[in-house]
Amino acid sequence: MAIIWAENSYCVRRQVGALIVKDKMIISDGYNGTPSGFENSCEDENGLTKQYVLHAEANAITKLACSSNNSKGATLYITTSPCIECAKLIIQAGIKRIVFCDKYRLTEGLDVLQRAGIEMLFIDKKEL
Ligand SMILES: [Zn+2]
Repeated sequence: MAIIWAENSYCVRRQVGALIVKDKMIISDGYNGTPSGFENSCEDENGLTKQYVLHAEANAITKLACSSNNSKGATLYITTSPCIECAKLIIQAGIKRIVFCDKYRLTEGLDVLQRAGIEMLFIDKKEL
C-alpha cells in the first residue's frame, strides 16, 4: 500500500510513500511533497528538490500531530529507508518498528534508528 501511496507524490526525482499503522489500523499516511497550500511541484527550475519539500515520513508524522491520535508504539511502513532528519522524528514520535523496501544511498538514518533500538525490517522490492 505504501508503494501505491508513493505514486500520489508530485515529486519527479523520487516518489516516497509512508503509512503509520497502530493496533492493525492505518492511523496516518504521507508522501513526499511541499507543505499544505504551496505549489505542488517539488523541484526548482534546475531540477533540484526544493528545500521546503517534506519527506513522506515527516508528512505522516506531522499529520498525526494535527490529529487526536498518536504514533506511540506504531509501525511505520515506508518505501525508502529514512534519512537522518526523519530518523530523529521517528524516534521522538515513539514509533517502534519500521518496514521498508528500498535502501536510500545514505545509511545514517538507519544507524540512528538502530542505536535507538527501533526494530527494522527490509523487504526487497523485487520480492514483493
Ligand atoms: Zn527524510
